[in-house]
Amino acid sequence: MIILLGAPGSGKGTQSRLLAQRDGFKVFALGEILRSEIANSTHYGKTIEASIKKGEFAPLEIVISLLKQHVMHKDFVLDGFPRNMSQVFEFEKFIHENSSIDFDKSVKVIDFIVPCEILCDRLKNRRLCKVCDGALLCEAKECNFCGHYSEDAYMRDDDCNCESVARRLEIFHQEKDLLIEHYSKKGIYHAVDATQQVEEVYAEVKSIIA
Ligand code: ADP
Ligand code: MG
Repeated sequence: MIILLGAPGSGKGTQSRLLAQRDGFKVFALGEILRSEIANSTHYGKTIEASIKKGEFAPLEIVISLLKQHVMHKDFVLDGFPRNMSQVFEFEKFIHENSSIDFDKSVKVIDFIVPCEILCDRLKNRRLCKVCDGALLCEAKECNFCGHYSEDAYMRDDDCNCESVARRLEIFHQEKDLLIEHYSKKGIYHAVDATQQVEEVYAEVKSIIA
């Protein structure tokens, strides 16, 4: 199991899609699940929308309840979860109670390191494919995941809003040191320079999980 721990805009979605397409990983992308709860106006949709608009995390009970709808296997990539220590504790409890995964032996945590200025640029310029929701690379004429033309790509609501972008980056930076410390103690923390080209980042990820 791989936990991708990186700031918004660091490339988690891009790399988890590559791991799914090329290596058969299943992806638990919490942000995408939350956004689809909003789009489908589910029971949780309104509450989630209120938090996400402000750039804050969705309530822990909702996150855990969504997590429980998924069976976690070893071949999972977790994109954007867990993000703070309460989510970390709930998640590890969940794995312990619901799977045979030996957390410290079979989980690798990969942190994508990107300086703040580059993150802001990437989020402001992020466009998503209308067909597969994959993030398009700047200037790309077509989606690098499904090949659809990029002309009708769209922007995420929370990327359009500068305050929300700033708040997401701020919250990420508040929480990340505790997560790094937690995973480093377990000996499962790996940092990758994610300012590199997509393929170079992918190659590093592969060498970590090899
Ligand atoms: P996250 O899921 O971590 O928020 P994304 O995968 O959506 O990040 O990537 C954010 C933006 O940065 C997207 O527009 C994506 O195309 C772009 N991007 C991702 N990885 C790289 C990279 N290695 N170099 C340049 N741009 C990248
Ligand atoms: Mg993402």
